[in-house]
Amino acid sequence: MKIMKFGGTSVGKPERMQQVANLITKDSEPKIVVLSALSGTTNSLVSIGDAMAKGDKIEAKKIIDTLEAHYHAFVNDLLKKDATKAKGEAVIAEHFDFLNIILKISFNEALNKDILAQGELMSTKLFSAYLEENGIAHVLLPALDFMQIDANDEPYLDAIRVKLNRLLQQHKDQKLFVTQGYICRNARGEVDNLKRGGSDYTASLIAAAVNAAVCEIWTDIDGMHNNDPRIVKKTLPVEKLSFDEAAELAYFGAKILHPTCIWPAQQEKVPVKLLNTMQPEAAGTTIMQDAGSVGVKAVAAKDGIIAIKIKSSRMLLAYGFLRKIFEVFEKYKTPIDMVTTSEVAVSVTIDSDAHLAAILKELDPFGTVEVDKDQAIVSIVGNEIAQTPDVLKKLFDSIAEVPVRMVSYGGSRHNISVLVPAANKIQTLQLLNKGVFGLE
Ligand code: ADP
Ligand code: ASP
Ligand code: MG
Repeated sequence: MKIMKFGGTSVGKPERMQQVANLITKDSEPKIVVLSALSGTTNSLVSIGDAMAKGDKIEAKKIIDTLEAHYHAFVNDLLKKDATKAKGEAVIAEHFDFLNIILKISFNEALNKDILAQGELMSTKLFSAYLEENGIAHVLLPALDFMQIDANDEPYLDAIRVKLNRLLQQHKDQKLFVTQGYICRNARGEVDNLKRGGSDYTASLIAAAVNAAVCEIWTDIDGMHNNDPRIVKKTLPVEKLSFDEAAELAYFGAKILHPTCIWPAQQEKVPVKLLNTMQPEAAGTTIMQDAGSVGVKAVAAKDGIIAIKIKSSRMLLAYGFLRKIFEVFEKYKTPIDMVTTSEVAVSVTIDSDAHLAAILKELDPFGTVEVDKDQAIVSIVGNEIAQTPDVLKKLFDSIAEVPVRMVSYGGSRHNISVLVPAANKIQTLQLLNKGVFGLE
């Protein structure tokens, strides 16, 4: 079994959907195709939810109507035969009736999750109508029937495996399955999602659940590049990455992959390929157990970081101090990304301010607490990077003019991270491209 996931831009135009149909019918291998919403749709659905949360129904209605017009034009272009065009129109009617009903009922977070699910529900149904029109046999598998998260909002792989394999057993004679990325059910049975960019996570979870031969992530670029192509002019695709390297890059900001989507594929040793829908012949990036070469592969940056420093003379020669500090973050389910310590202070970084006020209040008795918001973590990732000759010299020589706030080295064998003010992020990525990769 092969998993093929297509992102928003890969299905965002009628001709792209046609291209996806070509790509999935090139060979007769059994496959599960995971689709995102059409590009821009989830952003619009987020805006509808935001407007509803503010009680601005006029704004919500405006966004709904603009989105609906977009889908009518899309269906009109995508589907040619009367019967399938009617099906496409029925899909639009069903989902926009729902969006219009939410204007009349009270808004809450559970309803917001239902709103956010509409994009993937529509894209897969429209794609299914297109396959039908072209006589391509397939089964539409509802992700809400098998994709599940637990009470901590973590994917529940064992349950996903059982439910998905049971569904597949019901269609033993079929070879092509289509399903929604991103959406799932939570522990309460409500519609939920795997967070923004979550279709990659869906693909990796399905790949693990069915022990797929490969998990292909098809997007709008020819693989993981050595630097962020949205920021740095000259970047190059990386041919091979280990699961650990790819996981670090995704977690530390390489947007091409959802931050935590690698672990399911890694757990079941399913190779992941990053491929370009617009340029299918390009080699892309292969992610597997073995990284191939040693050395620096890529850099990535993660915004929205908050640095917290706790200074206390009581820390001097004391044990148990760090545990007490870390327990505060554990209590508020707030992961720590970077840590540095000295005899009298500890600095940590977090990427969410959701519980910041409560965390600061509980840290207060431990000493003087300083907070720096608007920071960015820049991570340099590569297999055995810490043992790569000259890597630290090259790194610090190239960013000598950047005010580095924290450094993490040696925590992982694949990563060196620096914390810089967010305002210096672009400069740091550009300087590293020249100094570490020799690219201008
Ligand atoms: P999709 O909609 O297919 O999921 P995304 O927009 O989520 O696509 O991810 C692809 C985008 O990720 C690229 O267009 C690129 O701008 C961005 N990106 C950020 N960092 C990297 C990187 N290191 N390598 C490749 N792409 C990256
Ligand atoms: N449609 C969702 C998003 O835009 C999920 C995804 O595209 O991966 O975040
Ligand atoms: Mg994405």
